[in-house]
Amino acid sequence: MSLPGSTVDTPPTRVTPGSSARAHLFTSGSVERYRRVLADGIERVATRVAGAERPFTGVTPDELAPRIAGIDLDEPLGGTEAALDELQDVYLRDAVYFHHPRYLAHLNCPVVIPALLGEAVLSAVNSSLDTWDQSAGATLIERRLIDWTAERIGLGPDADGIFTSGGTQSNLQAMLLAREEACARATGAPGARPTRPQLLSRLRILTSAAGHFSVQKAAKLLGLGADAVVTVPTDADRRMDVAELSRELDRCRRDGLLVMAVVATAGTTDFGTVDPLPPIAERCAAAGVWLHVDAAYGCGLLVSPTRRHLLDGIERADSVTVDYHKSFFQPVSSSALLVRDRRVLRHATWHADYLNPARAVTQRIPNQVDKSIQTTRRFDALKLWLTLRIMGPDAVGALFDEVLDRAADVWRLLTEDPRFEVVTRSPLSTVVFRYLPAGPGRLLADEANLYAREALAASGAALVAGTRVDGAHHLKLTLLNPETTLDDVAHVLDLIAGHASRYVRTRTAAELSCPVA
Ligand SMILES: *Cc1c(COP(=O)(O)O)cnc(C)c1O
Repeated sequence: MSLPGSTVDTPPTRVTPGSSARAHLFTSGSVERYRRVLADGIERVATRVAGAERPFTGVTPDELAPRIAGIDLDEPLGGTEAALDELQDVYLRDAVYFHHPRYLAHLNCPVVIPALLGEAVLSAVNSSLDTWDQSAGATLIERRLIDWTAERIGLGPDADGIFTSGGTQSNLQAMLLAREEACARATGAPGARPTRPQLLSRLRILTSAAGHFSVQKAAKLLGLGADAVVTVPTDADRRMDVAELSRELDRCRRDGLLVMAVVATAGTTDFGTVDPLPPIAERCAAAGVWLHVDAAYGCGLLVSPTRRHLLDGIERADSVTVDYHKSFFQPVSSSALLVRDRRVLRHATWHADYLNPARAVTQRIPNQVDKSIQTTRRFDALKLWLTLRIMGPDAVGALFDEVLDRAADVWRLLTEDPRFEVVTRSPLSTVVFRYLPAGPGRLLADEANLYAREALAASGAALVAGTRVDGAHHLKLTLLNPETTLDDVAHVLDLIAGHASRYVRTRTAAELSCPVA
């Protein structure tokens, strides 16, 4: 232990590396370096983004891996400039740029600048959101944003929630809370007391065939049986079929199974479809089952000036997942879990003497670790805070609306184009389709679409995603960039048709000249 006036703070007499290492610490003495180094980094990113003509260079793992493997991590370059030059070579040049209007693949958004400002501030101050004594105002700011989101959803006066790292974590925590509530109910009921293992094996989660795989992962992590997640079939629009849901709820009851949660998806990852929330909420209320709404994708509708009604019914959920890093134009990570009844968050509470003793509760010291499955936790909420304070929610909603309008135009474009077949009209921003070769080439549809996607990615001209629909390979556009024009998409469709038809021509020619025995 050091006493005031002890020599512990005197710099070591050795010249290196101790004293020069100190200069890298962000302290009151190094703010000039902080300004300079961060400005240099920002300049590199700005230059790269300004010069991005394509979303991707098409670099392959084989090209990139030796460059990264060849770096000796025990031999520092010594300076920021040299490290940034190297970073340009191993990362910045070949990264995937969601900022580019022809990035059309996954649920990645371009990010708003107020959130980038938040990111820079939050990592420099480095608050940790577990306890008040590591965060102060950050805890209160996060709480305000949770309340704001819960109010937008309409969860009522007892609502609460917590920021998380992403939809996967939000869904996991929701399933943890639902499991604990179901177990508490089952062991509290009159009659025979099942043991915990007996209970866990009887628990079921119902979600649609288009639900997110993180629900399966959560079930596994929560010790449920391998058959715990029951897939409810979807209707022709790939929304959860409510009649099938009712049948499944009845069947589970008959079979002595306990449905611990129904997970409805408000914005399926593959199709951008929204499950019919009001009748699902109706069935859940009648059966006394926890309703979780996974709105990781569709949460942007909460601020949409024209389409908020697509989430009607979400206010009846027991818990809701939102991913601000999908439709609020926030950088990764930024997500939250909201709950209707703040008391259920106690299932995530553990009192540790060193951190959050039970006495802190009686002292009414605000404390987020009691609601979270993380301990040390980033102040990701600051990004959304600055976004709301600088732009406001309507501006964010208007950006999302623009994307949804564009997706509707793209869907129309595709339905009118005989080269393609399009499936499931999404109220959000996903368009699933495939190139359909004419004539006998039709048998090559799967391979042609796979090939087109890979060839497009290798060229770096655009990125689209792929998925399987009823066993057949399809292509998927997920629009999240308001700067993507209909012309951009039309151009990408021409590129896809070009790659796919070339594939079909080559294959057919090869098979004609060299018939397979
Ligand atoms: C993206 C997504 C998730 C997972 O969220 P992450 O933030 O990637 O962990 C869960 N559910 C749905 C519907 C999603 O689209």
